[in-house]
Amino acid sequence: MPRLPNDCFAISSEMISVGEALEKIASLDLPGLPSVSVPLWDAEGYILYSDIHSSINVPQAGNSAVDGYAFAFSGLGQETYCLKCIGRSAAGDPFKGVVKSGECIKIFTGAILPDGCDTIAMIEDCAELEGELVRIPESLKKGANFRQAGEDIKAGQLVLKAGTRLRPQEIGQLASIGKADIEAVRKPVIGLFSTGDELLDPGNAVFPGSVFDSNRFMLNALLRKCGADVIDFGILEDEQQAVASALKKAADQCDILVTSGGVSMGDEDHVKAAVEAIGSLNFWRIAIKPGRPLAMGQIANTAFIGLPGNPVASMVCALMFIRPLIRRMTREIEASGLKAVMGKARFSMIKKPGRREWLRGRAGLSPDGSLFIEKYTSDGSGIISSLTWANGIIELPENLEQIKEGDPIRFLSFTELFG
Ligand code: AMP
Ligand code: MG
Repeated sequence: MPRLPNDCFAISSEMISVGEALEKIASLDLPGLPSVSVPLWDAEGYILYSDIHSSINVPQAGNSAVDGYAFAFSGLGQETYCLKCIGRSAAGDPFKGVVKSGECIKIFTGAILPDGCDTIAMIEDCAELEGELVRIPESLKKGANFRQAGEDIKAGQLVLKAGTRLRPQEIGQLASIGKADIEAVRKPVIGLFSTGDELLDPGNAVFPGSVFDSNRFMLNALLRKCGADVIDFGILEDEQQAVASALKKAADQCDILVTSGGVSMGDEDHVKAAVEAIGSLNFWRIAIKPGRPLAMGQIANTAFIGLPGNPVASMVCALMFIRPLIRRMTREIEASGLKAVMGKARFSMIKKPGRREWLRGRAGLSPDGSLFIEKYTSDGSGIISSLTWANGIIELPENLEQIKEGDPIRFLSFTELFG
């Protein structure tokens, strides 16, 4: 397990901004996770451990982009748009002879061109005449439909940088240069707990006042989507000793421990005292809605994050703070490009200044092509329907006090937040 310096989560008791919390996460002095060898077949979602260079050109040899007829452009002339077809070249079965001026060969997509040939006419644009003659269209340019060797990747070129998250397209590119296994950053192992005597695993019979444990299922899916391996440690009862011994035991196997619930100030909130007894804990009082204080700490060498119990706050805080922590631990480089978009509010509201608010939102396209953003009718942080209704999060900045219909507002799609 990586070693965490003792004061890595140290904070003051003052309210901190989201920016400051993210800076603290980004500047944590965490040792890197080790590398693992992963078969390319299973590598989606992993982060590259080191730079990848190509040892070959892609494509390795010049080849045809279409089915058609290949010839030397220099041999074409006023009278010579009718060429004699002297053979064929298919992908994996090249033409081995020589193509002279006035001649061509039939060629198929991906087939390599014989020496001298540099241009291909598409089969649809040619006329096959008597006596093996083919009429080539006159409008072609030199090099038409010819894919150059190395036009995608040159031998020796840096293909992907260390820290790149592997999406389907990166996997395809790695296969194209012949990689069968890759050196990836080991996924962080997250131990996941729920807390609360009222909680019940789905599938069990309800009892008066029981609540099915939705957070654990939601967070498991979320954390996996964010590139972690998750170990399920079930539901902890509201009892300090039990919480402490379960967390202590789990810490040995995990890089991060995540709990939800039990970190408020109520009599039944035992997580705080339990973590303080076996490790160190700080509350980051972050100026956000939704979200109680986020508990951050460590148990031995394992990071600890205590999420709020209410499902909406739990998911939003996991997306906003655990996702960056995972990125930090895996040294993932952030993809450039789109993060948030601006759209026109389809609602009005008054907002308390001084804190950032994350509302469940749904973005869509208006008939005029502009983006509109709706917000869910209820703000309650126990309303999971607001999350299933939404396709992203509306982010209202700290200093904002009011939104009127049509105002431009910031929207973070779930795709961007998970990605
Ligand atoms: P707590 O922070 O433990 O006081 O919990 C706050 C609210 O969230 C309570 O209504 C809990 O019943 C609810 N809650 C806590 N954990 C979960 C969970 N895993 N799934 C669903 N609801 C939860
Ligand atoms: Mg509770």
